[in-house]
Amino acid sequence: MNIYGKTKLVGIVGWPIEHTFSPNIHNAAFIEVGLDWVYLPLPVLPDDLRAAVEGLKVMGFMGFNVTMPHKKTIIEHLDTLSDEAVLADAVNTVKREGGRLVGHNTDGRGFVESLKKDVGFIPEGKDALIIGAGGAARSVAISLAINRVGSITVVNRSPERAEELCSLIKDNFPLCEVKFLPPDDEKIVSVKKDSQLIVNATSLGMPDNPGLPIGLDGIGAGHLVYDLIYDPVETDFLKRAGEHGAQTINGIKMLLYQGMIAWEIWTDMEPPAEKMAKTLSSLIEGKV
Ligand code: NAP
Repeated sequence: MNIYGKTKLVGIVGWPIEHTFSPNIHNAAFIEVGLDWVYLPLPVLPDDLRAAVEGLKVMGFMGFNVTMPHKKTIIEHLDTLSDEAVLADAVNTVKREGGRLVGHNTDGRGFVESLKKDVGFIPEGKDALIIGAGGAARSVAISLAINRVGSITVVNRSPERAEELCSLIKDNFPLCEVKFLPPDDEKIVSVKKDSQLIVNATSLGMPDNPGLPIGLDGIGAGHLVYDLIYDPVETDFLKRAGEHGAQTINGIKMLLYQGMIAWEIWTDMEPPAEKMAKTLSSLIEGKV
């Protein structure tokens, strides 16, 4: 990749940032379509966020992705937010528009894109069970509600976060039925049976947080089980749901689509989907 005086800059702000796949995927896409842009890793400690955003602004960055731990704290440094970012109360993509920084959240849209494009699942009128009430669960619930899902049941360890998510959906999407159930509630088995879509939006199943987010009883053929986790590629939950006859999908496609949507927001061009997907697959398989 060549860098010239006129090369346009984007990047990803986070801490730590060494393990991100985003520079590889976005740079492969710029090269594929012949755009003179470059995407850089931008390691920024929490206390340095304000200075970093000012720096990116004055250096003329076209935009940047935002990852942990800055997705929420970035908001106070931006000029305006998209509707989804307001509801999610989190930003993962920033675009510079003139002198203004506009915050977007593409996680939920990436999730719904993957449902529609990769498994042909249309949320409208369906019943969804979401396990988790953190940032990812919030984005997923908002996008499902935007896509007119019929009902959402939130299961979460901490009732406060789950109740807050339920109130957000109730207040903004009155046609969507929403309720909270604690993980040990006996009604969960019947809710599982009645839900066409079951989403693990907790970090349970990651190498440093082993365990199942919910029991497998009630899950079987006719259910789509989605685990937002992509490392490991197949969590125990996904493996066992598959053994029970459910259709399964991991978080790789959500990761891909949220990145493609960010690329499109910055460039106003259609992203080279195949190139980005292949680059991500190679990274996941450890080939790059
Ligand atoms: P977060 O805001 O920290 O939320 C974590 C969630 O997991 C909370 O609901 C938390 O419950 C629950 N949890 C964590 N440890 C638990 C345990 N031991 N027992 C029960 N519940 C537990 O994290 P996040 O940003 O929402 O991310 C959640 C997952 O989604 C992560 O695995 C992340 O990698 C994945 N993700 C994937 C994508 C993608 O593109 N595929 C995008 C974003 C996130 P409490 O509320 O009770 O603490």
